[in-house]
Amino acid sequence: MKEIEHIFEEGEDPSQFLRDWEDYIVKVELEDATECIPGKNFNGGAYSYYTIWEWDIKIQKYELRYASSADFSYCKRFGHFQDCSNCMYFNDDAWSEGIEYCGVDPEYYDIPDIIKEIGGPLKEDHILRVTLVEPEEEEGE
Ligand SMILES: [Zn+2]
Repeated sequence: MKEIEHIFEEGEDPSQFLRDWEDYIVKVELEDATECIPGKNFNGGAYSYYTIWEWDIKIQKYELRYASSADFSYCKRFGHFQDCSNCMYFNDDAWSEGIEYCGVDPEYYDIPDIIKEIGGPLKEDHILRVTLVEPEEEEGE
């Protein structure tokens, strides 16, 4: 299936789009670039922060995770700089198997929750990327 990315910039309100395309959305990524300075966004102290909702086909909801543009360890559940192996939620069993070791349970969202969380028009230096799977063309069109 082909994926299409749709980008919203500051001042644009993605609410209606998210509602209309609800059945085709596989990922929603909100970037907060308020503090980001190009060239300093990997280890220079001026990073972008991401809130990401990704479709989980088993749960039939969107899994929330956080990320940053920095090269440093960043907990995808709490959304702050930390090495999850030093965290009280560290998952030893998973770590030994080489899989996900942040032991904090994920949160799941529906599109209406995501719309609420985004909260209308995007603020300054915020960018929203919505990934859709291309709707199948109907027979005879
Ligand atoms: Zn963690």
